[in-house]
Amino acid sequence: MKRYAHWINGRHQPAQDHYPVINPATEQVIGLAPEAARDEVDAAVTAARTAFERWSRTAPRERAAVLDRAADLLAARAKDLVPLLQAETGATMRVAATMQLPTAVERFRRYARGAIEPDTIPLAPLPVKASPLAAGGLLGAAAIRRPVGVVACITSYNFPVVNLAGKAAPALAMGNTVVAKPAPQDPLACLLLGDILQQAGLPDGVFNVVTGSGATAGEYLVGHRGVDMISFTGSTSVGKAIAESAGRSMKRTLMELGGKGAAIVLDDVTDGALKNVVGGVGSTWSFHCGQICTAPTRVLVHRALYEKVVTGLQRYAETLTIGDPVDNSTIIGPLISAAQRDRVESHIAGARDQGARIVTGGTRPDLKPGFYAAPTLIADVRPETAVAQEEVFGPVVVAIPFDTEDEAVEIANGTAYGLYDYVFSGDAGRAWRLAGRLRSGNVGINTVQRHPETPFGGFKESGVGRDGGSFGLHAYSELQSVVWPS
Ligand code: NAD
Repeated sequence: MKRYAHWINGRHQPAQDHYPVINPATEQVIGLAPEAARDEVDAAVTAARTAFERWSRTAPRERAAVLDRAADLLAARAKDLVPLLQAETGATMRVAATMQLPTAVERFRRYARGAIEPDTIPLAPLPVKASPLAAGGLLGAAAIRRPVGVVACITSYNFPVVNLAGKAAPALAMGNTVVAKPAPQDPLACLLLGDILQQAGLPDGVFNVVTGSGATAGEYLVGHRGVDMISFTGSTSVGKAIAESAGRSMKRTLMELGGKGAAIVLDDVTDGALKNVVGGVGSTWSFHCGQICTAPTRVLVHRALYEKVVTGLQRYAETLTIGDPVDNSTIIGPLISAAQRDRVESHIAGARDQGARIVTGGTRPDLKPGFYAAPTLIADVRPETAVAQEEVFGPVVVAIPFDTEDEAVEIANGTAYGLYDYVFSGDAGRAWRLAGRLRSGNVGINTVQRHPETPFGGFKESGVGRDGGSFGLHAYSELQSVVWPS
């Protein structure tokens, strides 16, 4: 059994303790991940602190070249990384091969370009009067983006290397150094990233990875005096604990948290366009078993179309093959763990107890081994009940009817979350106006497709700050103002 090591200061750093990482489809151990002790986290932070001064002063073109080479090297490792990512995440082969690695490659490539984006915002010269403070005259000024310092990147399971690349690549491009703490469930490919970045020319200490099975390593990192910023992707409850702890030492935070996406289906959707609605909402089942923060997990349908949409979704769910993720015909693989499956099942049981209608799914598939859950559609759900309020993070869609646009907006906005909503309508102008009423960081009109250059993040308890494109780059900077007499 392969024992993985932390990556600290440009070296594989063997750990004293390890814990098993489980393939969610086979329930077999696929590798032993390091269980970080405090001194190992200390060593990673010290390495990043020490490396900061030099890395932050490298020429942007040099940083761009390193990140570009990292993209090439990462892509070249597909043969060993894709199977590893597939095994540790339980993703279907199609998702593993087309998204788990290529999207991470794209992120390194994107932020290689980011490193050479302008970092200086010139401001118009301003005549100022003499004051008791200083002489008057014409003052020149500029605002310059500077790196924040040592960034702790703490990530969720589901797309481990993509999640980490979405933080580390812009942070490094901006001249920061990084200590990464991937999720306990699927950290193995992330532990190989250090080697790749080193081969790409990244100096030792600039990027470090530590792992652990529980909250301890992350918690310790968040409280560490040597860390300047926490970039976190994960649940809202953990995000709140992190924000509280980070606030004590005024660390900068970027928080990408949970979601409970609403897909509003207006009464002007034509029969032909309903297929698009079904495919979009059905992505909650077909895409990584619903373990996606942006999934449209609540479908709010105008009463005139309600039964039609529910029937369409039911038929779609019943066509989806569930099973071994390495079988090319499989659409739905397992959930990440037995604990996650329990959580999903308890949400379904709660909905059933509260009188909702389980249209399809709702029972555990007869498949062993593996942590499988069936695609589940729950109709006639009351908006205030737990299954319509809380993030399930599994293949569960709830359907809720509405009569007026006002009612749809009230239901859509009626959770603690505000990450990603969707509007389906035959009238793009009407959908656009409705989008303006949604308290959500992102709105898709007639699509669940993502645009990588848009600012990505949440309103309300879905987070603070923005990833994505140049917005994501700026998230890892502090603005410094410089003024001078001209
Ligand atoms: P989680 O919150 O349980 O864990 C996330 C990370 O935080 C892990 O690395 C974990 O070890 C670490 N952690 C746990 N407790 C900690 C603590 N007290 N201090 C510091 N670190 C701690 O989330 P998860 O179960 O891995 O992932 C699912 C969640 O992530 C869902 O809520 C999902 O919506 C969210 N998510 C959000 C986005 C986004 O971009 N908004 C993307 C993917 C996932």
